[in-house]
Amino acid sequence: MKTLAILGGGAAGLAAAVSALRTSEGRVRVVIAERLARVGKKLLSTGNGRCNFTNTDISAAHYHGDVRFAERVISRFGTEDAVKFFRSVGVPEYIEDGRVYPMSESAAGLLDALRAAASGAETATDFRAAKLLPPQTQGGEWRILSADGTELTADAVIVATGGRAAPSLGSDGSGIELLRALGYEVTPLLPALVQLKVERPSVAALKGVRVRAEASAFSRGRLVHSERGEVLFTEYGLSGIPIFQITAHEECDTVTLDLCPEISKGKLLDELENRKAIFFTHTAEDFFAGMLQKRLGNLVLRAAGVEKLSRPVSSFDGDTLERIASALKRLEFRVSGRMGWENAQVTAGGVRAAQFDPETMESLQHPRLYAAGELLDVHGDCGGYNLHWAWATGVTAGCASARALEAAEK
Ligand SMILES: Cc1cc2nc3c(=O)[nH]c(=O)nc-3n(C[C@H](O)[C@H](O)[C@H](O)COP(=O)(O)OP(=O)(O)OC[C@H]3O[C@@H](n4cnc5c(N)ncnc54)[C@H](O)[C@@H]3O)c2cc1C
Repeated sequence: MKTLAILGGGAAGLAAAVSALRTSEGRVRVVIAERLARVGKKLLSTGNGRCNFTNTDISAAHYHGDVRFAERVISRFGTEDAVKFFRSVGVPEYIEDGRVYPMSESAAGLLDALRAAASGAETATDFRAAKLLPPQTQGGEWRILSADGTELTADAVIVATGGRAAPSLGSDGSGIELLRALGYEVTPLLPALVQLKVERPSVAALKGVRVRAEASAFSRGRLVHSERGEVLFTEYGLSGIPIFQITAHEECDTVTLDLCPEISKGKLLDELENRKAIFFTHTAEDFFAGMLQKRLGNLVLRAAGVEKLSRPVSSFDGDTLERIASALKRLEFRVSGRMGWENAQVTAGGVRAAQFDPETMESLQHPRLYAAGELLDVHGDCGGYNLHWAWATGVTAGCASARALEAAEK
């Protein structure tokens, strides 16, 4: 019986194992080699424990990196295919704003179902693949050496070891290095779907403040991406889904927040005149009462040049109101970088996907070597796109490798 080794028991590796077992109907031995003590640890943390496993709008527009490669994969494995795959392992779906979750809203339940479907596979846990040696002869075996010297041999290998994001959940980039050592090109790696660090103005005092806003990112004055949603201030910078989405794109040096995205600046000025009348006998500190959280209001006032919060609102002239309106529409932050790998949800960059066949995920360089998931240079937006990528590539690699091994057996 031929052996398929799957390196990494994460989302892509488990989907590959289920697909290989089903395709071969048990005629291929499937071994999952997982670095941690159990498979699927990261899955438990996804979607805040609810696991947003796909989206109703799977399209290339939501992917970054090698988008053309991504398009070729997802055109063969879209939302319906992911939903069908999960129903087939006993997980019906629940949809909220296009985001697809297991009906139980439990990542742990989805993992249990996946593990049950993959139970025909052998699992070697605490196995950190450290070296991958290609067959010496045509049709020979791959050798996989673990960090502590254990050896596994296989007729085909799927590398599904993830990227570098969230290393405490298993993915430390070691799988990317396995492929680099075999001569595969790797594009620069960057933490993505992560918080931004802000250099100035200091936001430490705003820690915990949330606001609905339109966040826009700029690189040397050029707009990189805009996104509306809830922005969260942290001790060191900005967080929340709009900020995460910004970091799915290229790096930026400036982020602006439009705190009143539904109102034009003209209408906002009328509103500010109104507030001046309401708070005429009060100090600047009260000017945003009921409109913005106090700490955020104070930041806006300072950005508009109102330094003294004890200043009477009655002293606000037309020019001051104009500056306040501008600060509300464009509160500017100088970005000093991204938070690191521990905080990131995904990896931007990775092993160049174009070195693999998108119809099978098999290497164009080494027959019987496949790659799947986040270790490739494709990443998606927030909203289920990254797990979808893991399922799509995992299922493709699992089916294709099992078919190839069965054909070789005949
Ligand atoms: C907190 C958090 C929340 C997220 N929420 C969502 C969400 O709701 N929806 C969504 O679409 N995406 C989400 N993501 C992203 C998504 O989880 C990943 O993109 C996806 O899990 C990648 O799948 P993968 O199988 O390629 O890698 P992983 O899931 O990282 O799995 C890789 C596996 O390989 C193992 N491994 C690593 N190196 C080795 C080695 N050398 N030898 C053997 N084994 C190894 C790891 O231990 C791990 O089990 C989230 C990520 C995080 C961190």
